[in-house]
Amino acid sequence: MVNKYSKITLAHGSGGKLTHELINQIFLPHFKNDVLSQLHDSAILQLNGETLAFTTDSYVVKPLFFPGGDIGKLAISGTVNDLSVVGAKPLCLSVGFIIEEGFDISMLERIVTSMKDTASIAGINIVTGDTKVVDSGSADGLFINTCGIGTIAYKTSLSISNIEPGDKIIINGTIGDHGLAVISERESLDFNPPIESDCAPLNEMIQKLINSGANIKFMRDPTRGGLATTLNEIVNMEKYGILVDEKNIPIKDDVRALCEILGYDPLYIANEGKVVIVASSSDTYKILDILRKDSFGKDAEIIGAIVNEPKGKVYLKTVIGGTRVLDMLVGDQLPRIC
Ligand code: MG
Repeated sequence: MVNKYSKITLAHGSGGKLTHELINQIFLPHFKNDVLSQLHDSAILQLNGETLAFTTDSYVVKPLFFPGGDIGKLAISGTVNDLSVVGAKPLCLSVGFIIEEGFDISMLERIVTSMKDTASIAGINIVTGDTKVVDSGSADGLFINTCGIGTIAYKTSLSISNIEPGDKIIINGTIGDHGLAVISERESLDFNPPIESDCAPLNEMIQKLINSGANIKFMRDPTRGGLATTLNEIVNMEKYGILVDEKNIPIKDDVRALCEILGYDPLYIANEGKVVIVASSSDTYKILDILRKDSFGKDAEIIGAIVNEPKGKVYLKTVIGGTRVLDMLVGDQLPRIC
C-alpha cells in the first residue's frame, strides 16, 4: 500500500510527492533493474558500443486545445525534451492514440497536423504507431502516448551525481506559462491577450549547448510539479543543497497576477518548454549566451546555486529578503495539465 492510500488519487499523477511514492513503493520494487533505477528522464542503454536514450510519456491534457498548443504539440515536445535533457539527439518517435467513440475526425486531423508540424521543427519522424478506440465516455476524447529513441554522443554522461557545491542553476525562460494557459482555457478565463503555453521541442537549443563543450552536469525539464519539484529531485541524494534567488526567476507579469488571483504558486506550475541546467560556474555565462540567442531561451537567467549546507533542502531567498524552504509538490493543484 502506498502510505495511507489504498486507492489512486489525482495527486498520484502530479509528478510531486505521491508520484515519487508510487514509483518508489510500487513500480521500482517490482520492475527493479540497473537502467530503471537511474530514474533519468530517459533510460540510458548501451547497445553495440552506441549509447541510446529511450523514453515514453502519455498525454491526457484537458482541454485538448489551449493557447500556444494542443495535445499533439505537447505529445511530440514532451518526449523530444525528455530525450534532449539526458543529452540525446532524438532520432524518431512512436505514437499511440486512444480515441473515444464519437470523436470528431476533423479534430483528430488538426491534432495530427500539429504533431507533424512539431516533429518537423524538431527534425524527427514518427515511424510507428497504434490506434485503439474505446467506448464513448471512457477516454475523455483522446489520449496520446509517445515513445522516443535518441543517440548520446556527449563525452561525459549527464547525471545528478556529477553535481557539486559551487555549480550554478540556469533556466531558459519564464515559468508557469503552460499550466496557466491550460487552466485559463479549461475554466474559460478570458484574457486578452491570452496566456500562451511555452510548449516547444527544445532539442536544437540543447544540442547547441552540448556542442559548445560547456561543462553541463545535469539537465531536467521542469514539467509536472514545476520548478520547485525539479529542484527537490536534484537535492534528493542529500549531498548538497540548493539556494535559489526569487528575484532572478523569470515570471511573466500576467502569469504572476493570475497565480495571485487563483492562489497558485508559479514555482509548482508545469512547464513544457523549459529546461533546468546545472553547470560548472566557470561556464555559466557561456551557456547563458547560447540560450539567449535562441528563441526558446531568450529570457534565460541564472536562478541559483548548489550549496554545501543545508544538505537535501531547497531554499528560496524571497524578494523581500527572507528565506524559506521549498518542498516538493504535495497534492495536485492542477490535474490533467499534460
Ligand atoms: Mg522530464
